[in-house]
Amino acid sequence: MNLKTLSLETLPVKDQKVLMRVDFNVPIDKSAIIKDDTRIRASLPSIQHILDRGGSVILMSHLGRPKGAPSKEFSLLPCAKRLQELLGRPVLFAGDCIGDEAQHMAKNLKPGEVLLLENLRFYQAEEKPETDPSFAQKLASLGTVYVSDAFGTAHRAHSSTVSVPKLFPGKAASGFLLNKEIKFLGATLQNPKRPFIAIIGGAKISTKIGVLKSLLSKVDALLIGGGMAYTFMKAKGETVGKSLFEEGLEKEALLVIKLAEEKKIPVVLPVDHIVTDSLAEAKEIKAVQGSIPPGFYGVDIGPETIKLFKNSIAKAGTVFWNGPLGVFEDPRFSQGTKEVAKAIAESSLVSIVGGGDSVAAAHEMGVADRFTHLSTGGGASLEYVELGTLPGIEALTSV
Ligand code: AMP
Repeated sequence: MNLKTLSLETLPVKDQKVLMRVDFNVPIDKSAIIKDDTRIRASLPSIQHILDRGGSVILMSHLGRPKGAPSKEFSLLPCAKRLQELLGRPVLFAGDCIGDEAQHMAKNLKPGEVLLLENLRFYQAEEKPETDPSFAQKLASLGTVYVSDAFGTAHRAHSSTVSVPKLFPGKAASGFLLNKEIKFLGATLQNPKRPFIAIIGGAKISTKIGVLKSLLSKVDALLIGGGMAYTFMKAKGETVGKSLFEEGLEKEALLVIKLAEEKKIPVVLPVDHIVTDSLAEAKEIKAVQGSIPPGFYGVDIGPETIKLFKNSIAKAGTVFWNGPLGVFEDPRFSQGTKEVAKAIAESSLVSIVGGGDSVAAAHEMGVADRFTHLSTGGGASLEYVELGTLPGIEALTSV
């Protein structure tokens, strides 16, 4: 489905109080230092656009998992400070996302001013809108129009992503970051430069089965690595030793293989592996061909598989990549992920990376800027590729 939504570009914002859902869920250490401000930077074009046109901005976000109660550890105050530095103008901060203080500050906000509300998830009703519909109403009362730029949470039907925009009929728009994600994960992958290949890794097949099936109606080849490859191998009758394997999901894996055969789409599984006798205290690490020997864990794709993947990348016009191809957090098992990231970065193909660990790997390799698009959403990007829409996009005004 290709949903056309009202965009910030055409939303009149002059003298409006723009209530904007952003994703400031950034990593913050114990001394309140932000370790990666990519998500705050990603929201700047939308914020700046509104300020330049004489609107004011009321920002709302979640941070971490505070479980429905206030907690200093999950305060968004460090994000207000960082945003202030990035914007070069004051950013006001309300110590609660609803209530008298937020109401008062929002009411007195003047054109060109920015206010950040405290963590939405200090209220249980953020993640469970049905427990208190008045929470969304209180948030909505702060602004006069609504913008969503929080792609990373657009797959969640939460108060701020779905209930609040529904209270702004005709006035709920998508921000520039959301538009960019929709463009690359939607239009670009719907009409890709061929051959179009998908490289899917990561831990579990269970979290990606939907997107795997959906990709089979789009791609010319499906390359599978990471922990999920072992469920495929086991389903095909190979031994996987002590490797990560999801009991009961062999049937789903076989279904993907059958679907691919029917559509004549090659599914490329690892032909060799890096294996270890222990994840914590390895005594033996080696490359093996074919099946995994008893007592060993498969922890990375092997050199022959890297070559196979690189050959496909060299011939491709478009690649969608999600999920590391091994336990890449451990440098001994990160070769496959790094080599694949490097091969994509060095090619001239259209490269779209679907969030999470694969984006982290691209940054670690220093090649992030060589990809066409790095999605800011992990689960959201997979769900968008699978379904072509998300609850947080559906809730916006359609045009
Ligand atoms: P996901 O969030 O599903 O993309 O999974 C990412 C995680 O998959 C990372 O933490 C990796 O360490 C893990 N992973 C990748 N390959 C393997 C493997 N062969 N065995 C166990 N975990 C893996």
